[in-house]
Order: sequence, then C-alpha cells, then structure tokens
Amino acid sequence: MNAPSSHVLYPAPAGSPSLDVLIRGSGPVGMGLALALARDGLRVGLLGALPKKDAAPDVRAYALNAGSVTLLRELRVWDALPEDARTAVQDMRIHGDDGGAIEFSAWQQGIGELAWIVDAAALEQALGEAVRYAPHVQRLTQPAAAQLTAVCEGKDSATRELLGAGFESFPYGHHGVAARLVSDQPHHGTAWQWFRHPDVLALLPFDRPQVAHGFGLVWSQPQAEAERLLALSDTEFETELNAATGGAAGTLRLGSPRAAWPLRLGHAQRWCGPGWVLLGDAAHAVHPLAGQGLNLGLADVRALARVLVEARRTMPWKPLGDERTLRRYARERSTPTRAMSGLTDGLLHLFAQPSAPLKELRNHGMTLVHHLGPLKRWLTARALDA
Ligand SMILES: Cc1cc2nc3c(=O)[nH]c(=O)nc-3n(C[C@H](O)[C@H](O)[C@H](O)COP(=O)(O)OP(=O)(O)OC[C@H]3O[C@@H](n4cnc5c(N)ncnc54)[C@H](O)[C@@H]3O)c2cc1C
Repeated sequence: MNAPSSHVLYPAPAGSPSLDVLIRGSGPVGMGLALALARDGLRVGLLGALPKKDAAPDVRAYALNAGSVTLLRELRVWDALPEDARTAVQDMRIHGDDGGAIEFSAWQQGIGELAWIVDAAALEQALGEAVRYAPHVQRLTQPAAAQLTAVCEGKDSATRELLGAGFESFPYGHHGVAARLVSDQPHHGTAWQWFRHPDVLALLPFDRPQVAHGFGLVWSQPQAEAERLLALSDTEFETELNAATGGAAGTLRLGSPRAAWPLRLGHAQRWCGPGWVLLGDAAHAVHPLAGQGLNLGLADVRALARVLVEARRTMPWKPLGDERTLRRYARERSTPTRAMSGLTDGLLHLFAQPSAPLKELRNHGMTLVHHLGPLKRWLTARALDA
C-alpha cells in the first residue's frame, strides 16, 4: 500500500498553509501538545471542543509521574490546579495473592514523591483554560491545511483509520471500575495495590473528596463482574470493597458515583507518515494498572515538541511534516512505549494463572524484588519518567 499522506485529511491547500500544525483531538494530550508547540512559537490549530465547566465530572484520579508534572509546570497548568486536586504519593504498597509484597518509599529512594494523584476533570479544565488564553492556538471547528497533522483522538481515532496507520487492539475482557472513596483513617500519602486472580485493585491517596482521607479507586474486573459491581447498591458495594481491601486503608465508603471503562492493549503499526503523526492513546493503549497511559502521552508531547523545534532550527527549509523528521520522534517513543505495554501486560498474565506453583513463584518474586534495592531504584526511575 502507498504511504498515506495528510492530503486524505483535507483538500490540497492553495499556496502555503497558514498553520504549522493542525491537532485533531482536544483530550489532555491534544491540549498539552497545542500549548507546548505554541510556547515554542509554532502556529497551531486545535480541532475539537474544549472541556465544558458544567460537564459531568470524570471520577478518575490519574497517577502522574515526574516527567508529566515537569511538562505541566512548564505549560503553567500545574500551578493553576486547585490545591486539593493534586496529592503527592509518598509510599506505595503492592500485594500479591499469596503473601507476596513490595513496598516503595520516596524517602528511601531519596526523592520528593513517587508520583502525584491528579483529578482528571480538574486537569482537563486547567488545560482548557490555558488553551483559551494561548495566543498562538486557533480553536477550529473544521479541519484546516497545515504542514503537519498531529492525531490525538484517543484509542478509537477515526483519522488514524483514514490514514491507514493500522492499530492492533487486544481487548482484555476487563473493565476498570473507578470511584472516589473516603476512609475513616488518614491516607498518609500511601497508595495501595492488590494483584490477584482475576482482579487488580488500586487505592490512590487523594485529597478529594476529603482532605487527608480521600482515595481514588481503580478496580479492574472481568466485564460481567464489573457490571455486577456497578449494579450493587452503595452499601453492598462498600461491603465488597472493604472485604477486598481487608481494612488495610481503613473502612472505606463511596464519595462519588461509580463508572467503568473497557480495558485493552493496543498499538499503532505506524506512528507517522508524510505530513501526519500519532500521539497519546491514538498511538498506544495500555492497561491502567501501572497508571501510565497519560504519562506516555505527555512524554510523546515532550518528544515531538523537541524534535520539531530542533528540525526548524537546523533545517528551516524543510516542512514540519517531513517524514524523516517525524520518524525520529517515532523511534524515540516506540521503544519505551512497547516496554511499558509489555511490562503491564506481562504482570497481568502472570497473575491471571490460578495454578499453585506459579502463585507461589510470583509471590516469592515480589518479595525478592522488595529486598533488592538497585532493582527497586531502577523500577522507580522507569515509572517516574515514561
Ligand atoms: C480507569 C482508567 C484509569 C486511568 N488511570 C490513569 C493513570 O492513573 N495515569 C495515567 O497516566 N493514565 C491513566 N489512564 C489513561 C488515560 O486516561 C489516557 O491515557 C488518556 O486519557 C489519553 O489521552 P488522549 O488525549 O490521548 O486521549 P483521550 O483522553 O481519549 O482524548 C481524545 C480526545 O479526542 C476527541 N476526538 C476523538 N475523535 C475525534 C475527531 N475525529 N475529531 C476531533 N476530536 C476527536 C475525543 O472527544 C477526546 O476529547 C487511565 C485510563 C482509565 C480508563
């Protein structure tokens, strides 16, 4: 098949386009990219609606790593977040299904925090406000000609299909049930995670809905079980949740409605072509057990902005959609993304096996990692900068 080009996206422009980059999709990755490129002096068009103030709140709380927080600080979005919309994670306790455990501590690793937990809706609002006031970002309702089209439409991207980029998708058959919780005990900045068969349960310390006592829940369950959990009354759900966490983080009650997302692994076969490039979930979808999907997307933003600025500086005569330039970005990002997908997928498969010898082995493995300082430091460093 011939290489698809950005001409499939809009009619051939008469004369040179007035935009340097057209961004399709105004999720967190698209808005982040618009701000990063405008900061670097490029003329950007953003196609997609900005988040509405009265939209139904997203109950998810995202774990963001140091690399994502640095970018958000540079874009002046981090400091615009309300104080209770971001909470530092100081400790992380990960449990297996047969006594295995690993603990990570920011203090032991000599860093300020392991991660930040951020309100998904507040983050999108803050990005949207920054875009509204960014001088070089045009908000578009129709596609417009540009030297480069950046596709940030999320995992079901229609433009990616149109471009023939190919997306290999492997549904897990699991849904991630998310909600906000309140505990009768303070969270002390500790995140908890349980890997079991067949569920994975994460409690993320979060000051919303209650300062020092809130948690964000992500509970991955087979689809039928997730639907059953959503259909329970609040009291029945709380009883099952407290049985699943064994009171480790105190007695938990719901602080928001529950919602669920279907989970899948996916990656694009091609990340770029002449005049187009993929970023964020449009290029890769990972299981949320490692809390890395958006971190990978914001790392894509950092890498593409750097590659484009460098190209403009060293080869100003070349259009920004030059495929060789874009391949530099794709090469830089595809390896860490595949590594993260492989790690989360491998962990899931390891814990999906109910056989007794494997159960013993994986739990011993977790405890062994807990006692290996250098390996723990290496794992922490990888997680801090996707
Ligand atoms: C339960 C759960 C928990 C998660 N927790 C974490 C976490 O802790 N940490 C983390 O890093 N990640 C987490 N993630 C992953 C994170 O949600 C995604 O990686 C992130 O939202 C991807 O951002 P995006 O902008 O690429 O795509 P999206 O958020 O999907 O945004 C895409 C945007 O493009 C728009 N769009 C689509 N098609 C078009 C079109 N044709 N034209 C114009 N616009 C279009 C959509 O309306 C949307 O606004 C979690 C995911 C789930 C499901």
